[in-house]
Amino acid sequence: DVTSRYLIVSNRLPITAVVENGNLELKASTGGLATALKQVFGEDNATWIGWPGETGALMRKAREQLEDGLEKAGMVPVYLAAKQVERFYEGFSNGVLWPLFHYLLDTVRSDAGRDWEAYREVNEKFAEAVVAVYKPGDRIWVQDYQLCLVPGMLRKRLPQASIGFFLHIPFPASGVFRILPWRREILQGLLGADLIGFHTFSYARQFSSCLLRILGLESNVDTVTHDGRLVRIGAFPISIDTEHFETASAHPEVTAKAEEIRHHHPGCKILVGVDRLDYTKGLKRRVLAIEHLLEKHPELAGKFKFIQAAVPSRAGVEAYKQLRKQIDELVGRVNGRFSTISWSPVQYLYRGLDGHELLGLYRAADVMLVTPLRDGMNLVAKEFVACRHDDDGVLVLSEFAGAAWEMGEAIIVNPYNEDELADAMHRALTMDEPERRFRMQRLRKRVRDWTVHEWVRQFDQALTLVTTENAAWH
Ligand code: UDP
Repeated sequence: DVTSRYLIVSNRLPITAVVENGNLELKASTGGLATALKQVFGEDNATWIGWPGETGALMRKAREQLEDGLEKAGMVPVYLAAKQVERFYEGFSNGVLWPLFHYLLDTVRSDAGRDWEAYREVNEKFAEAVVAVYKPGDRIWVQDYQLCLVPGMLRKRLPQASIGFFLHIPFPASGVFRILPWRREILQGLLGADLIGFHTFSYARQFSSCLLRILGLESNVDTVTHDGRLVRIGAFPISIDTEHFETASAHPEVTAKAEEIRHHHPGCKILVGVDRLDYTKGLKRRVLAIEHLLEKHPELAGKFKFIQAAVPSRAGVEAYKQLRKQIDELVGRVNGRFSTISWSPVQYLYRGLDGHELLGLYRAADVMLVTPLRDGMNLVAKEFVACRHDDDGVLVLSEFAGAAWEMGEAIIVNPYNEDELADAMHRALTMDEPERRFRMQRLRKRVRDWTVHEWVRQFDQALTLVTTENAAWH
C-alpha cells in the first residue's frame, strides 16, 4: 500500500508536556514550522518523529498519558537517556557543531570524542524510529544539525526512499568546516539525502566547496552525483507565518502593550533587542556599542531607552552560564556609568516574553537591533517587520544573518565593528520619516510575498522533482 505521507524528523517534537496535579497535558507548539507543515500537507499527512523532552521522571500514569497523547497527535517519540541528552545534545550538537557552524571557534569543545559516539548512536536511534514507521511512498524530511547522519543511515536501509534534509543554521566556509575531526562522516551522512537545503546560496556554495575539498566530489551548480544517485543542493530561505503576525499584532491588547511601553519612557526613542541568550547573538558587542554611542553622542543621554529581552536558553551548558554573567556585568557597568536619577540607558530582561509583550515590543520599537555575529536566518527580523502596520520603525541588521540576503533595506552592519554599530544606531535614531517609510514598505512586501508556507511548498516541490529523477535512473 503506497502512501504519500510526510515523515518529519526533528530533534524535538513540536509539543511541550506540562504536568498539572499529577496529570500530563500536551501543548502543541505554535512555532511557524509546525503550523506551516500542517497547513501545507494537511493535518493527517504529516507524521512527526522526535524527542518529546525529558521524560525520565514521569510516573507510569503520566507516561501512559504522554504516549496516548502523542499517538493521537500523529507523533512518534524517540526517548533519550539522560546521558544521551548530555552527550549527543549538549556535548556534540550544542558544544561542537553549533559554535563551529557559527564561526565561534574558541567555544568549540576540544574533548568531544565520547560525545561524537553518542551523536552517532542517537542518530542511529532516530533512523531506526523512521524505518519502523516507513511505508513505500512516504517522503522523509530530516531537520537540522542534530541529525546530520540520519539521511545516510536511512539510505542504507531504505535505498528507494525519498529523503530531504534541511539545515536551519549556517553552513560554514570550508576552512572552518575542515576543523571538524568528523568532517567526512558528517558530509557522507548528509549525502544520503536526495535534496539538501540551506537558507542561502552562500551556505549551499560553501557546502559544495567542502564536498570538493574533503571528499573530492565535483558538483555542478546545484547537483552532485554520489553512489549512483543525484543529490540536489539548494537555497530555501525560511520565513514566518506573516499573516499570523499581521493579525496578532493588531490585537487591542498588543496596541495597549505598545502604548504602555512608550508611555513609560516619555521623550525617549526606543531601541529593542529580542534574542535567546546565546553567544551567537552579539549581545555583548551590542551593549558595548550602546556605551560607545553615549561616548560619541553625549547629547543622546536621556533621549533613548534600549530594551533588551534575553530569553534563557541551554542554561545547563557552561558557555551559556558564563555569557549570562558577563551580560549582567556589562549592563550593570553601562547603566552605572550613564544613569541619572531619572534615566538609565539599558533595561534588561532575562526571561521569555508572552505573545502580547513580544508583539507590543515590536510595535513600540523605533529601532530594532538584530546584530548576531552569525545567524542561519533570524526570524525576529522578519517578525518585527510583519508587525509594523504603521510602515514605521528602523531595522538594524547584521550582515552575518541569513536574513540580510533578503532584507537589504535594513541598515546593514558588521556587528564586530563597534564604531560602525554605534553609527548605525545613531543613523537609525535620526532617520527622517520618508526614508523610514520607504525602507519599511519594501521590507514588509518581501515578508508578505515569501512566507513559511512558500518555503514548505518550494522544498516539497524540489524534493518531489529529484525523487522522480532518481527513480527514472534506476
Ligand atoms: N521568541 C520566543 N520567546 C520569547 C521571545 C521570542 O519564543 O520570549 C521567538 C521569536 O518570536 C522567534 C524565535 O523565538 O520566532 C527566535 O527565532 P530566531 O530565528 O530569531 O533565532 P533562534 O532563537 O532560532 O536562534
